[in-house]
Amino acid sequence: MAYSLAALVRHKRNPRRKQIVIRDIRPPQMLASDLYRSSYARVCAAWEAAIPRIMAEYERSVPVRDASANPGKNIQILSDSASDLGDLFRILGDELTRLILDIIPELRDWTFRTDRWHRDQWRGAVLSATGVDIETILYASGTPTTVGETLAWNTALIKDVSDQTRQRISSAVFAGLQARKPAREVAAQIRDAVGMSRRRSQLIASDQLAKLASGLDSERMHDAGISQFKYRHSGKLHARKWHRARDGKLYELETGEQVEGPDDIARDDMPGVPPYCGCRKQAVLTFD
Ligand SMILES: [Zn+2]
Repeated sequence: MAYSLAALVRHKRNPRRKQIVIRDIRPPQMLASDLYRSSYARVCAAWEAAIPRIMAEYERSVPVRDASANPGKNIQILSDSASDLGDLFRILGDELTRLILDIIPELRDWTFRTDRWHRDQWRGAVLSATGVDIETILYASGTPTTVGETLAWNTALIKDVSDQTRQRISSAVFAGLQARKPAREVAAQIRDAVGMSRRRSQLIASDQLAKLASGLDSERMHDAGISQFKYRHSGKLHARKWHRARDGKLYELETGEQVEGPDDIARDDMPGVPPYCGCRKQAVLTFD
């Protein structure tokens, strides 16, 4: 819902300053852990739980090392078993598809919960900076569009994590079969594949939190008629140098133009938008 926060503030008291900076909203890492645990980790755990089944099929399939005794027989075993393993991966794929359907309500729940958290933070930040309570306006505003976009994005990402895990595991299994690798070696590779998926999922979860928070920042500023923001650098160790250099500078929310300077921001480089960027926007309320 569009409203003018500046008009509300002017109505309540005569602001002496030309500008009021509202504190930025920092999403706590706990929300990223919640997202990871309630959704992505369940997909990784399901693949991990499938390891004994995969290995049982592998051990049944892998031909004996000494193929010279009866080469014809071994080729026979190899082709049959490869198709059994193929069936198993199809079955596992279906199981994961059903699991992901179960996880979608959890994703929805997390996304809405994070939105409510952001809404309360924004209300508190506006209240302490201006003395104006926008609670009723925020409650009447409904769900920001970023919420639906985040839900769709996470649904796609979680499928991608599962598919990638399946690909990594099946490559390890079929390559192992071809090279007649011992089962424990293949099992170790599968565990590595699941470990990689876990690490990727943790990164995705904190990135998704930053992106949702950044999208909500923009929408809520836009609704309030706020057109400028102060760049707040993430302070991350391996941050982009040009992001660090923007810390404290003033920009236009819609265009990314620097208010008094040449350092314009491209749309895909706005705070919190590039991968793993934890930079934020501070709303700047201006009175003319
Ligand atoms: Zn950044």
